[in-house]
Amino acid sequence: MRKKINSQLVMIAALAILMTSVLATIAYYSFFRAEVLNSLKTWTHVLASNEIGLELEETVYERLDESLRVTIISPAGKVLFDTNADIGDMTNHGNRPEIIEAFQEGEGSDVRKSETLDKTAFYYAARLQSGNVLRLARETGSIFVMFRSVIPSLIAIAVVLFVICTLLAGVLTKSFIRPIENMAANIDNYEMTPAYKEMRPFLEMIQKQHQDIIKNARMRQDFTANVSHELKTPLTSISGYAELIETGMASENDTRRFAREIHRNANRLLRLINDILQLSELDSRDTVIEMEPLDIYDMAATCVEMLQLNAGKSQVNMQVEGKEAWIFGNRSMIEEAIYNLCDNALRYNVPGGKVMVRVENLEEQVLFEVSDTGIGIPKEHQERIFERFYRVDKSRSKERGGTGLGLAIVKHILSEHQAELFLESESGKGTRIRVHFPKKKS
Ligand code: ADP
Repeated sequence: MRKKINSQLVMIAALAILMTSVLATIAYYSFFRAEVLNSLKTWTHVLASNEIGLELEETVYERLDESLRVTIISPAGKVLFDTNADIGDMTNHGNRPEIIEAFQEGEGSDVRKSETLDKTAFYYAARLQSGNVLRLARETGSIFVMFRSVIPSLIAIAVVLFVICTLLAGVLTKSFIRPIENMAANIDNYEMTPAYKEMRPFLEMIQKQHQDIIKNARMRQDFTANVSHELKTPLTSISGYAELIETGMASENDTRRFAREIHRNANRLLRLINDILQLSELDSRDTVIEMEPLDIYDMAATCVEMLQLNAGKSQVNMQVEGKEAWIFGNRSMIEEAIYNLCDNALRYNVPGGKVMVRVENLEEQVLFEVSDTGIGIPKEHQERIFERFYRVDKSRSKERGGTGLGLAIVKHILSEHQAELFLESESGKGTRIRVHFPKKKS
């Protein structure tokens, strides 16, 4: 980038120098041309007003600028007098533009290339009272000749200018780039204000992406650490109980108890692995989610029926109400989300408590609501319960077979379905989770 900006600045400077030189030469030449014609005009009028004609006196002639050529032409075009050439050899001048003009209008002018090409001749002619035309001419170098003579000085000036511009371009490029490099080096300093205000959105975007990358990396790191920890606990128990049985030191009763513990921990491991697999499947973006029309009420009723046995064991009254309500979604994902929400309402309940599952057709959405009269979630935990492995009460969750991943899975599934989740909960009173699904378009 630095090289590109620098070379572009140098190119602009070179172009500007070249254009200025050419334009200055052209401007100078047209100014010069106007000046020459003007002086010829003055001379012509001075001579014409004094009626200096055929009788041009030696003295007057001598006093004239020697580069001036004076010619007098008769109305027939015949050269009557010429200061530079023998009039006998001269052709008829009646067809010269400045002479035709002078005979017609009283005065005329013309600029022509001379035969030798490297000279330009300027003519000015005026009609005398005698009827003849007095013409003054002056030859100068052509624009090319004049240009040739100034080329060395022009080149010298251009080279000096070019060197100055190149040095300045280097300094300018550095001062353009420095704030950007500075910004890049301090990208994680969120207090930094960019040197150019136009770069603010750019900087904010990069910083946001940077933050996201760091957050993701941290989350992944935490997740791996959590997974290892969660897997380690049941595996350590299994290994310990198995070792006790292996040594043959345990009584028959103990053996049965240890086997039960091994079974319980193995189940816990299985649940954990299932949840982890499910999350990783949800995380991988390349799987296409198959969607179909689903009746949420029907699915909620099936889930409640499935959980009735557990509800009975926990002495919780579980009910479902509503009527058919259609959404567009992935069946197994929605089943999982409904199950996790209903299961939580049951697991974090109290004996004699209630769970109410409600489905309602709203104007634009379908409402799925699970409310319970359970232990509730303290305010300070409410934001975090959707994080992976976050539990309000770790031992209670484990005791009830929780993995800490259920709500993380629910959140993921709902976001894949553009559904919104609202949580209301009061510690000791109960929890209400409402989900708004977009209605299936009929
Ligand atoms: P877990 O497997 O531990 O239940 P979840 O992700 O399903 O994991 O829930 C995270 C935490 O949120 C739970 O450990 C529990 O503390 C809290 N929680 C979830 N649902 C409820 C509820 N209905 N009532 C009270 N607490 C709940």
